[in-house]
Amino acid sequence: MRNRICLLIFLCALFSTTVFAQQSLDSLIDRDLASLVTTYKTLHAAPELSHYEQKTATFFAAQLRTLGYTVTERVGKYENAEWTGYGVVAVLKNGAGRTVLLRTELDALPVEEKTGLPYASKVKMKNDAGQEVSVMHACGHDVHITSMLGTAKLLSEMKNQWQGTLVILGQPAEEVVDGARSILRDGLYERFAKPDYVIALHDSADLEAGKVGYVPGYAMASSTSVDIKIRGLGGHGARPESTKDPIVVAAQVIMALQTIVSREDSPLDPVVVTVGSIHGGTKHNIIPDEVDMQLTVRTYKDVVRKRVLASIERITRGIAMAAGIPEDRAPIVKFSDSQASSALYNDPQLTERLAAVFVKALGQDNVVKLDPVMMSEDFGALSLNQKIPVVQFTLGAVDPARFRQSKETGMALPSLHSALFQPLPEPTLRTGIKAMTSAVLDLMKR
Ligand SMILES: [Zn+2]
Ligand SMILES: [Zn+2]
Repeated sequence: MRNRICLLIFLCALFSTTVFAQQSLDSLIDRDLASLVTTYKTLHAAPELSHYEQKTATFFAAQLRTLGYTVTERVGKYENAEWTGYGVVAVLKNGAGRTVLLRTELDALPVEEKTGLPYASKVKMKNDAGQEVSVMHACGHDVHITSMLGTAKLLSEMKNQWQGTLVILGQPAEEVVDGARSILRDGLYERFAKPDYVIALHDSADLEAGKVGYVPGYAMASSTSVDIKIRGLGGHGARPESTKDPIVVAAQVIMALQTIVSREDSPLDPVVVTVGSIHGGTKHNIIPDEVDMQLTVRTYKDVVRKRVLASIERITRGIAMAAGIPEDRAPIVKFSDSQASSALYNDPQLTERLAAVFVKALGQDNVVKLDPVMMSEDFGALSLNQKIPVVQFTLGAVDPARFRQSKETGMALPSLHSALFQPLPEPTLRTGIKAMTSAVLDLMKR
């Protein structure tokens, strides 16, 4: 009996400590929220393109410095030496213990905003090719930056509740998938600290604000850009017999590529082969010399990726040969290394651990297990081929009223990268900060 009473007292104490911790987290976020929403709107109105995140990085670094972090700017080395790496690495040392790295992206997209919001972006800037384009935070990286600043502040104030080394990474150039690689090339894990865990969040246009989602294991695919040049022998459109028509060859190639997924790949290994662009010819009655195609390939496993790329090359060359195109005019097939990203594999054990933390912080109804997707992002690179456990969780960003409306009417909501994408700042920011802070406090608890 006495044992039971002791157990009861212990459980009550445990419960009240957990509830107290959640309440105090909420009241701290309440205190900061108005100013964080202002920060979010300021960032939203001032987006910058990948490779040119100068002002965003300077702002992010200054804020973290004020919070007591040791901050290094201009981290990142690109293959193209003309681009500056605008990566920010902020470190907060708090005694012995584990090292946890939190990552946010800093960049925005070449999209002309059409939300009509009072804080909508009107920014135009020059892209890598020197053309002036409209810019928008259409992927919600401004939500991520603001959530990170909110989290960084709470953790700097709650140092008595955790120990170890906290590293915050502001990563540039995610949208062109060479940012994470540029940071690693510049010695992220050698110059600063090699993390035991790496965590990130990404907002979602398919999940209500107030909720978070998680995917254990493969969550996002690897992405490889492929360029194909079909070379034929051009001539008069009325004399096909004297030509080798690259347009017909390209059409056959496109259809034959569909058999990679349907006939060569195991149905249990997800693969996408999409021909996203095809250009050839100038006029009705001219058979051109060349046709250019641009493809994207998505897979989870690297061995599958290599096999699919080899199939694309084999099929393309084989069809050109069957059409009688001579060897010296064989198709040129190029796989881009600079526009490739590895798959995101969320460490299953760490993912389940964080999911349990989120349930405690946000309630069971606000934590959802999601399906993996074939979209890509370069966060997975920070795992060094799954040597370091990483997790990117999903942060709901859709106004619940609009979400319900879309379910009732069947009208799709604007997706990420859409000119109409409109995250609801509150409670999205609150949820992101609460989830991320709770995750760190659990992984680094005293
Ligand atoms: Zn994006
Ligand atoms: Zn994104």
